[in-house]
Amino acid sequence: MTVPDHTVNHLWQLTVAEASRLLAAKEISSVELTRSFLQRIEEVDDRLSAYITVTADAALQQAQEADRRIAAGEYTALTGIPMQIKDLLCTEGTTTTCASRMLEGYVPVYNATAVGRLREQGTVLLGKGNMDEFGMGSSTENSAFFPTRNPWDTERVPGGSSGGSAAAVAAGEAAFALGTDTGGSIRQPASFCGVTGLKPTYGRVSRYGLVAYASSLDQVGPIARDAADCAVILEAIAGQDRFDATSLPVPVPDYRAGLTGDISGVRVGVPSEYFADGMDTGVRAAVTAAIERLADLGAELREVSLPTTEYALACYYIIAPSECSANLARYDGVKYGYSHQGDGDMWEAMERTRQHGFGPEVKRRIMLGAFALSSGYYDAYYHKAQQVRTLIREDFDRVFQEVDALAAPVSPLVAFPIGERTDDPVRMYLVDVYTLPVNIAGLPAMSVPCGFSDGLPVGLQLIGPHLSEGRLLNIAHAYQQATDWHNDRPSL
Ligand code: GLN
Repeated sequence: MTVPDHTVNHLWQLTVAEASRLLAAKEISSVELTRSFLQRIEEVDDRLSAYITVTADAALQQAQEADRRIAAGEYTALTGIPMQIKDLLCTEGTTTTCASRMLEGYVPVYNATAVGRLREQGTVLLGKGNMDEFGMGSSTENSAFFPTRNPWDTERVPGGSSGGSAAAVAAGEAAFALGTDTGGSIRQPASFCGVTGLKPTYGRVSRYGLVAYASSLDQVGPIARDAADCAVILEAIAGQDRFDATSLPVPVPDYRAGLTGDISGVRVGVPSEYFADGMDTGVRAAVTAAIERLADLGAELREVSLPTTEYALACYYIIAPSECSANLARYDGVKYGYSHQGDGDMWEAMERTRQHGFGPEVKRRIMLGAFALSSGYYDAYYHKAQQVRTLIREDFDRVFQEVDALAAPVSPLVAFPIGERTDDPVRMYLVDVYTLPVNIAGLPAMSVPCGFSDGLPVGLQLIGPHLSEGRLLNIAHAYQQATDWHNDRPSL
């Protein structure tokens, strides 16, 4: 295979599939590829801050090891490919901070299962991605360390909470990344940064080693340049894991083989509630055009209704904080992480540890959750939210008897200016109205670049029934074969 000239000096522009072909053909080495990404990080990351930690030396060692495997003929489509991992996922020997003072300097002794499965295939870890503290936020401004900037306009947010991961992939600072999605944290930053992201079915990917935010909603998934790359990565990380009892005991399909690009006869529902007033007109135009494009490609469109959509935000902001208040109780300054050492007794030390270790948004969530779970309020809030959760699930179940997938916007907005929403939590929460319902129902969904509004990327959201990742990937792949939006890159 011949390398187009412009990529010779810019290996960081390659997709996973392209890089993998060149590695297998021995036209490039993983060390060269890794160097190119490290150089790119050096060139652009002081403007973007997509990384909390860069592990350059370890990366080059891993790349050498990958080159040996390739030379020995023992490799897969991911061997030698450089990646970034969101700092919410444990990486053995590499600090995992969750973008929190609480875990500053914390070095896990094991890999998250998803990370371990990628490393077993010989991927190269470039470093850890910036994010909103513990995954709580929609803009990466809640990182305790620094905000990440959007590569398309550095005065704007990259979305969140996996903002560092989406920005890194968009800017060519990693061939792909792993993010996590509790209420939209893979899809929304992917949409804001013009890259492709997939939130798998709840249980499709093990959560072992993913630092818990809201355990009934959290999922790990890929952020990459296109659907074909997402298919390869999902295939590597999916599947049952004895360390996560909620991981599903279902075989992992050959997602790549499913990318036929043929979507004729696929029934695509368009939920009217996802096109509400107040959405950016450019987003509406781009998403509408993308849906028409799916029809040109053979999909059968149907208008559908998901009437419980309007309750999803309230439901999510009871359930997620409730689970977070329980999950984050473990940060007591005793076992690991930040520990306040003063004159007072144990209770005072714990109080000060949590006072100084957590940022304002995390504290707000803990207080909200503790309140919703407290005796006397439990029935009115937490129990009620669980009932609403069932209704939202049933809404999707009903619609998926008529259609194979849904197409909608990822967010009603494009990337907004840094600082615009930080003073008003509810305005920030509203950014995720169209992504939260999917997590509440445990469904898989993707964000696919589908155009621009005022020069900023717009994402098309594809949502499917449980375990329909293969079909979603194929719809996205068909769309990406017919369009070029996913190939656009920000000029930095
Ligand atoms: N923005 C939502 C929240 O703050 C979702 C975040 C996520 O998916 N981790 O909870």
